[in-house]
Amino acid sequence: MEKILVHTCCGPCAIMPLQTLIKDMYLPTAYFFNPNIHLDNEFRLRLFAMQEVSKQYEIPLIIEGNYTYFEKIKANANTTKEERLQYRSIVEECVGFLHTHMDEEKFNISVTKILRKWENYAQGFSSFHIDHLQAENGLNQNPHLKMNEELQVDAMAWAMRLKEYKEGERCKLCYEERLYQTAYYAATHGFSQFTSTLLYSRYQNHEDICHAAQNSMEKVNKEIQENSLQNASPVNFYYQDFREHWQDGIDLAKDWGLYRQKWCGCALSRMESLERMAKREYAK
Ligand code: SF4
Repeated sequence: MEKILVHTCCGPCAIMPLQTLIKDMYLPTAYFFNPNIHLDNEFRLRLFAMQEVSKQYEIPLIIEGNYTYFEKIKANANTTKEERLQYRSIVEECVGFLHTHMDEEKFNISVTKILRKWENYAQGFSSFHIDHLQAENGLNQNPHLKMNEELQVDAMAWAMRLKEYKEGERCKLCYEERLYQTAYYAATHGFSQFTSTLLYSRYQNHEDICHAAQNSMEKVNKEIQENSLQNASPVNFYYQDFREHWQDGIDLAKDWGLYRQKWCGCALSRMESLERMAKREYAK
């Protein structure tokens, strides 16, 4: 049986790729690295769903990164004035779409309705209140779970950078950063292969994901060749089109009662999704 490091973007998308790999006699380790996820509650909900999936399959789960930024903002502590202003400018820019030709009041009501719907849905999950401390308690109870907090993740800086790019371009960058980190971790931790549950999603750009994974693999392998990575061995990107299992994954996610997110991840995708749904609501 061969070991494989599987970048996992969320629990529901991880179900079928993991199941398929296990059936194909691989030994997967899930690797949760997603600094793109906007809002700390959302991050926890997705992480919690991933923990559930790793428990179901009894496979190791590595949580990469120390995500503290939004908590810092929320607590209004240790943030500079400039950081707070930057944060506000992102939020304001994201809600810029409200200034449309539509009846603003009516549209605002639609937005509020959708937001309330999302919040009620999230409240229905016990994970709503989990925090890193609880995740650490989970660490004690779950021998498969490992937190790796050495890598500092600045979700704010991530969002600031992404907003400079158009949708397609920002996603390419987002895939590449997550997959490079996965390839790097694989190479430096004894995995000869890596893949990603992003390859399961029908909402993502499959070709761009493959391209990003391929680039990441080549970059890491070149760094190994040039001796700039210590104690690392070459890695391969394992490709499989997991989209063919799309409906099976949705059915299982529902059966297992997993949290299913309403937007891709970043602040911009949240606003785009909100806009789409609010427009449908508005049209009713
Ligand atoms: S829409 Fe999704 S893939 Fe694209 S940048 Fe945002 S989080 Fe990343």
